[in-house]
Amino acid sequence: SIPLFLHSFVFRASGLTTLPSILLIGPSGSGKTSLLTLFERGTSAAQTHTSQAPISAECHLPVGTLASSDKYRSVNDPTNLTHKKFLLIDTPGHGKLRHHALANITNPQNLKGIIFVVDAATLSAGDEGLRHTADYLHDVLLILQKRAESKNKAVKALKEIPILIAANKGDLFTALPASLVKSSLEAEISKVRSSRSKGLLDSGIGMDDEGDRDEWLGEVGSTEFRFKQMEEFDVVVEVSGGNVAGGEGAVVGKWWTWISERL
Ligand code: GDP
Repeated sequence: SIPLFLHSFVFRASGLTTLPSILLIGPSGSGKTSLLTLFERGTSAAQTHTSQAPISAECHLPVGTLASSDKYRSVNDPTNLTHKKFLLIDTPGHGKLRHHALANITNPQNLKGIIFVVDAATLSAGDEGLRHTADYLHDVLLILQKRAESKNKAVKALKEIPILIAANKGDLFTALPASLVKSSLEAEISKVRSSRSKGLLDSGIGMDDEGDRDEWLGEVGSTEFRFKQMEEFDVVVEVSGGNVAGGEGAVVGKWWTWISERL
């Protein structure tokens, strides 16, 4: 067999490695397709189309961004001359098509992280977008939580799952800043969580039942949901703002940095 360091070189050279991948997820209209187009072409001229099925694009880190796996390479290392590539996988946000997205989460192919894109201009209290987004995010987090608890090794393949909540459309004046996006989503997920468990109780299944703990997101006994509670399940959530489109051009630096730190 070939030594480990050569192994990675041989496969890199032959192009047989699966590229590290980042999954894009989130409600319809939040800007996933625009983001994908921007990251693929590196331009802000994002034309979008209605996504019917997952679309993926091969992307490169922009010049000057160093992937964390390259941090200890010598400056003379020839691999520094090529841009770090990764695969960005778009998923449809429409309710009916969500199973694609959820199938991708539970079946990671060299998955390095998940970007959950939200429209920060539709997350004010009472906005229908807030409930809808919190509902979707709740389900995604619950799948990841169950995955962490799963005894199936294959399902647990990636120990830690980093999630970036990309608070998009920051250019719009109704957009909430990242800190408020975070607290609004936490508050709304708390409501989703308690109404779901009430639903379970009403259906006659007791919460102290073995199986039901599985349906409760985050810390048992907590009244308020906090993203921090997900760390117990190796799910690390970060929220940062930006915009893909908008008058003054794209602001996506923090998201690039987040990606580069995970490759
Ligand atoms: P998807 O359904 O999540 O793929 O969302 P799209 O990428 O199709 O975007 C939905 C709409 O939001 C499109 O009209 C985009 O041009 C617009 N959009 C996306 N990102 C931004 C942004 O940062 N700011 C503004 N103002 N509009 C955006």
